[in-house]
Amino acid sequence: MPHPILKAKSVSKIYKHAAALSEVNLSIEKGDIYGIIGQSGAGKSTLIRCLASLLEPTSGQILFHDKDLLQMKGSELRAFRLKVGMIFQHFNLLSSRTAAGNIAYPMEIAGAADPKARIDELLGLVNLSSKKDVYPAQLSGGEKQRVGIARALANHPEILFCDEATSALDPKSTKEILDLLKAINKKLGITIVLITHDMEVIKKICNKVAVLDQGQVVEEGSVAQVFADPKHPITQYFIQSGSHEIPPDFFKAISPNRKLLRLRFKGDTANEPIISQIAKQFHVEANILMGWIDSLQALSIGTLIIELTGAPEGIEKALGHLREKSVHYEVLENG
Ligand code: ADP
Repeated sequence: MPHPILKAKSVSKIYKHAAALSEVNLSIEKGDIYGIIGQSGAGKSTLIRCLASLLEPTSGQILFHDKDLLQMKGSELRAFRLKVGMIFQHFNLLSSRTAAGNIAYPMEIAGAADPKARIDELLGLVNLSSKKDVYPAQLSGGEKQRVGIARALANHPEILFCDEATSALDPKSTKEILDLLKAINKKLGITIVLITHDMEVIKKICNKVAVLDQGQVVEEGSVAQVFADPKHPITQYFIQSGSHEIPPDFFKAISPNRKLLRLRFKGDTANEPIISQIAKQFHVEANILMGWIDSLQALSIGTLIIELTGAPEGIEKALGHLREKSVHYEVLENG
């Protein structure tokens, strides 16, 4: 059994009378890039702050290598804080310090012996050596986030928390920062926990995902599994709200004896001629209206929007066949 590095057990957080988190359970393993996705107000910031010990839950436990953060005091808690780093949506750099000065800051607090060599190493790691003596006001958003990342890594953390780290960036800088986070995870073996409202971020770098809705984890698992077979409506919403909009006309043209379906294929079922099979076998007409392939890191997921027309029994049998073949489908509209 893999051993979790960080675990939330029945974590709840109540602000005044409103619950921001209810009985959240999560298990993050060493080397994970663990994404927590949710809409605005879902409780993401509250959760990441609890995990990073910046906020105390109302009840529950947060275990770091099996030790309860909430029981830690004084030097033990300070030691935990050194073992984690955090980056922020708006970077939170000190404007009065240069890039190097910002990176030095957590090392000064920790009383590090030789910060100079470490600063150069970190600037190299985030590809910013040429901006060493530049102040934040002269840096682009992407460069500011690179400084943020270097600063978060200064004291060799085991976990890097990312609070909407790319939400304020343009697409090109977003890609660069996500690539950098992935490289850091791979090269340095640092576990990454991130919060986002953007499924693209999850798709690009995470291996695990938890979907948060109204303070509750409604779905959790490997990204490939959750993407291929999203169970909760909110997960389905996140997956659909990517780059593929279904034209509203597809919904308008629904007539009796017609169903609009979204099919998802993963792995080798993607190559099977399932659509022509069901058309022939069950005497229904199956028109492909739209299709695309999402490339996750280790897997491709194919999506097809199809319309099925025919006698209700034929359509029911065709749907039964899809279930038998473990093709995930959703009925988008019924005739
Ligand atoms: P998200 O990061 O997903 O947008 P938050 O964790 O910021 O969600 O907020 C979750 C819920 O808790 C929201 O309803 C929000 O209004 C509430 N909330 C957050 N912080 C506070 C606070 N300091 N006091 C009272 N309510 C808060």
